[in-house]
Amino acid sequence: MVAAHPPLVIDNGTLVFPDRLVPGGTVVCHDGRIVGLGRRPALPVAACRIDARGGYITPGFVDLHVHGGGGADFMDATPAAVRRVLDTHARHGTTTLFPTTTTGSPERIAAMLGACRQVRDAWAPVHGARIAGVHVYGPYFAADKVGCHPVAGRRDPVAAEYRDWFRDDLVRIATCAAELPGAKAFFRAAARRGCLVTCGHSNATWSEMAAAFRAGVRHVDHFWCAMSSVASLRARCGTPMQAGMEQFVLATPAMSTEVIADGAHLSPELLAFALLMLGPGRLCLVTDASRALDMPPGRYRFGHVDEGSWFESDGSVGRAGGALASSTVGMDHCVRAMHAATRADLSTVVRLASLTPAERAGIATDTGSLEVGKRADIVILSRRLAVRRTIIGGVVRAT
Ligand SMILES: [Zn+2]
Repeated sequence: MVAAHPPLVIDNGTLVFPDRLVPGGTVVCHDGRIVGLGRRPALPVAACRIDARGGYITPGFVDLHVHGGGGADFMDATPAAVRRVLDTHARHGTTTLFPTTTTGSPERIAAMLGACRQVRDAWAPVHGARIAGVHVYGPYFAADKVGCHPVAGRRDPVAAEYRDWFRDDLVRIATCAAELPGAKAFFRAAARRGCLVTCGHSNATWSEMAAAFRAGVRHVDHFWCAMSSVASLRARCGTPMQAGMEQFVLATPAMSTEVIADGAHLSPELLAFALLMLGPGRLCLVTDASRALDMPPGRYRFGHVDEGSWFESDGSVGRAGGALASSTVGMDHCVRAMHAATRADLSTVVRLASLTPAERAGIATDTGSLEVGKRADIVILSRRLAVRRTIIGGVVRAT
């Protein structure tokens, strides 16, 4: 077989493994895969070489929860918009992502799925981050936890609708608020398909979470954002005060969650607390980025370009009527913010943005860490953790 590209050698960098850093390391890639790595791997006779210049060589980032970037939202549902988001996030070190729906009419959701399927099926590394599957996130939110998402597009789970979503392997992550009528049947349908099943935009009690867990839920969307708390459950259920999603996740070893580590949604103390309580195997970084990523401050729509709800980006976060409305940062920013907040070693912080989300989404045999046989999805970071190069399936992105 003729290789599409010559072998690629990345050297003179610190290799970032999930459990250790190896300075002076080299990675060898061929045919889109990692074929050698370490201090002195066997080198091919002829290869393209990239000098990491003493920076870090890390696995490409994996984003479980991302709406848009570069002016486009996945809900725009055109192949051009989808590719625009993939390209934008690749610049920030993301090599695999799960396009995330928001609330919208059944037609809008179906159109988004169709556009993502079309782009996924014709994808090449030059397009940017790879689509590993869609995250169906909206429309099954609790009415009192819709947040910045267009409220008219919220509804309870409808089997006739979601049966279609689970027809094939496109949807890999599936969210629903646990307290909605029909939620358990939805969770079971998603679990049967092998999805990462998650509860979000929810005011669920502990017992509703326990029932959801039995139906297949293993993850909760953006911890502390649009989810139940002791205070929100007191308003819903009165006294005695109730435990909810936070306590259920912290107390259940099989549950994972994610944080928006943009520095605007959660304080450094909360980010550090999440890592301390959950450990690196149960906590993911997500961008939850909107179309305002890499765009000037201004007014943008969340969701579809003509129908989404308006929010204001000040360049560092989105806001709508005083509430937060999604992030405007890439995963590289989240890695830097998490590193600064927790002072955890870089191996751990990078793991939260790569191997842990890959494990939770069931793609860790293929990507998420520097390992021989895995995809050559790699980021070269400077000593200050700025992205210098993103390599997707062995193909170096033009910078
Ligand atoms: Zn979101």
